Parts: sequence; structure tokens; C-alpha cells
Amino acid sequence: MPEVMNCRRCRKIFMYGDTGPKICDACKKIEDEEFEKVRAFVRDFPGATAQEVSRETGVPTHLIYRFLKEGRLEVAESSPIALQCENCGVRIKSGRFCITCSKRLASDMIRVGRTLNDAVQKSSDTKDSAGLRYLHGERKENK
Ligand SMILES: [Zn+2]
Ligand SMILES: [Zn+2]
Repeated sequence: MPEVMNCRRCRKIFMYGDTGPKICDACKKIEDEEFEKVRAFVRDFPGATAQEVSRETGVPTHLIYRFLKEGRLEVAESSPIALQCENCGVRIKSGRFCITCSKRLASDMIRVGRTLNDAVQKSSDTKDSAGLRYLHGERKENK
């Protein structure tokens, strides 16, 4: 279902109909051109840093990193442009976490889920006994 939203880049309102970056068609065209520039530059100069690519192509580094995160841009194994795992800082090629950390985070999530369930269980237990106490008190008052 197409949705009306603000372009993430120019803030103009546009109809967002498909998947992909939430930007308007005009910006998508600009970004595609920027992506092509970055891709070509990285291909020709695999040793360039993000700063150098940005300087030479005029594309801001945050956009270069976004292309990487989206898995759109691929850099050579030896490229100084690389994402770092947000958890352990190891070099990764795309996404936010390395495989080890994404696995560990996934199991952490399950554990947190269980703890939450326990907490909910406990709080409903306390509520029950509080309710009983209240009932008890009321009964006393009625007498
Ligand atoms: Zn736009
Ligand atoms: Zn990691």
C-alpha cells in the first residue's frame, strides 16, 4: 500500500510505494548517481578510505556507510572502508553486527524475553495477593 511520507533526504512529501530507501524519486535518482560514483571509485581505488572517496566523489561519508550497511556497496577485503560490528568492533561487510554477535544477540533477546515473562508472572502474583489482602481488609471493615 502506498504511503504518504516525508523524504528522508529533502523532507518533501511523497508517495512511498515500494521497499527500499524512504526517499522521493528525485532524490532516489541523485542517490543512484552518487552510488554509481562511489561504486566506480571504490572499484578503481580499492585502497581509498571513506574520507578519500567522499572527497573525490562529493558523496558524504555517512551515505557511503549507508550504502555499505544496506549491502548495496561492496568493498574489497583489504579496503580501509569497512563497517565495524556495533558490539565488538570487528570488521564486517554489511549490516550492524558480526555473525558471532548477531547470534549472541539473538540468544540474548530470547533470554530477555524469558526474564520479562518471569517479571510479568511475578507482578501478577503480587497483584493477586495484594487483592486478597484488600478483600480481607474490606471484610474486616464490614464487620
Ligand atoms: Zn527527496
Ligand atoms: Zn561483533
